[in-house]
Amino acid sequence: MKNISGKKISIIGAVRSGLGAAKLAKKLGAIPFVSDSGSKDKIAHNLAALDSEAIEYEIGSHSERVFDCDFIITSPGVPSDSPVLITAAQKGINVISELEFASYFCKGTIISITGSNGKTTTTSLCAHLLNEGGLKTYMAGNIGIAFSDIALDVKENEFVALETSSFQLDHVQTFKPKIAAILNITPDHLDRYDHDIQNYINSKLNVFKNQDSSDYLILNSDNPMTPKDIENNSVNKFYFSLNQTVENGAYLDNDKIIFKRNGTEEFSCMTSDISLRGEHNYANAMAVIIIAQLLKVDPQKIKSALGSFPGVEHRLEFVREINGVKYINDSKATNVDSVWYALRSFNDPIFLILGGKDKGNDYNQIKDLVVKRVKKIYAIGSSADKVFNFFHQLTKVEIKPSLEECISAANREAREHEVVLLSPACASFDMFNDYEHRGRVFKEAVNNL
Ligand code: ADP
Repeated sequence: MKNISGKKISIIGAVRSGLGAAKLAKKLGAIPFVSDSGSKDKIAHNLAALDSEAIEYEIGSHSERVFDCDFIITSPGVPSDSPVLITAAQKGINVISELEFASYFCKGTIISITGSNGKTTTTSLCAHLLNEGGLKTYMAGNIGIAFSDIALDVKENEFVALETSSFQLDHVQTFKPKIAAILNITPDHLDRYDHDIQNYINSKLNVFKNQDSSDYLILNSDNPMTPKDIENNSVNKFYFSLNQTVENGAYLDNDKIIFKRNGTEEFSCMTSDISLRGEHNYANAMAVIIIAQLLKVDPQKIKSALGSFPGVEHRLEFVREINGVKYINDSKATNVDSVWYALRSFNDPIFLILGGKDKGNDYNQIKDLVVKRVKKIYAIGSSADKVFNFFHQLTKVEIKPSLEECISAANREAREHEVVLLSPACASFDMFNDYEHRGRVFKEAVNNL
């Protein structure tokens, strides 16, 4: 544990992680100063929290005071090339991430889960499985609770399942999780990485940069963008695969998931033991099975917890069945890759609600699947024309002005054993506050039918 008593710490960003870092710094006797260039009304309740802790702050712009400090903690929402961080670097001020900062004070075992898709699902499943297995496990990071908020609570014999985004890994210096998992790497957030995929990959790889032979790294051997040969690191590597046998790790053999260590089978279960649907979720489950095996969780408890996991809202979430038609909310599918997996998760014909704020989507990846499985697309949002132009020769496409209209059309058109799936491949900000808002509107419309 570092001693930061009396240190001046500037914190960039007054949202969740910035707030958490400021409170933690204050608790440990440091002098935090929070600076946020955003507008006051959006973060009013965060400011009230700072006021109640007597933490000083400035909102609207970053003043020179930011640089009068021993070091800076930056929030994941602040791009690395933002002027305030560039000036800090020019002045020789050390900039660390909130993740790094919180890790200085966490006595428990850190399990860091990153990847382009599946982080929240896998982190939640991991916490569920370890808790069911008798290992007290906190959940934090990108998932809703800042790591700084719980870092001091985690005792030596306890665990934290940490959802770790690439932004949180950007400023890693000494962060050293006992177990790290990179679920997959596919193009995402390239606007934050100079549109260079290698920069994005490098950020993900920071998760194991400080690991050594006392640690474990879990990698997806099916994912082309995940480096396979990490020869320069003595970390113990485990792999998972949907397609091939693995000697150290977990793989899918027809309907069976097998875990092997040094070629010897130590655990197996059936895919039907897993409550989540879709092969991407088998991959997520395999990553968690490896973690549970490494931590010696009782195999029977692993199996029963895989079955009792309730899933996570807005991720292939079953909403309701009406007249034999299933309604599924996958509002969190904000890129094409996750829609690919969503489409593969159903054998029945699909009415797909697609579109929103486009992120430079290339729909070629799902073209064949749409032809095979999608009966009709309802195109929504600012990218509705793009969706129409790409797909209208492949399947029926209709542009709809609102989610509610998609639902009432689907209610008229879908027949028994068909699926209505919101899996938009786009951000939500053109029509909604965020993907949760979009998912709630979808569910409300379905429940109003
Ligand atoms: P993240 O936290 O990384 O955004 P989530 O668990 O919230 O991941 O899932 C986001 C979307 O990606 C959902 O639509 C979900 O169904 C899909 N998804 C989940 N796991 C995977 C995976 N391993 N590969 C591809 N897509 C996935």
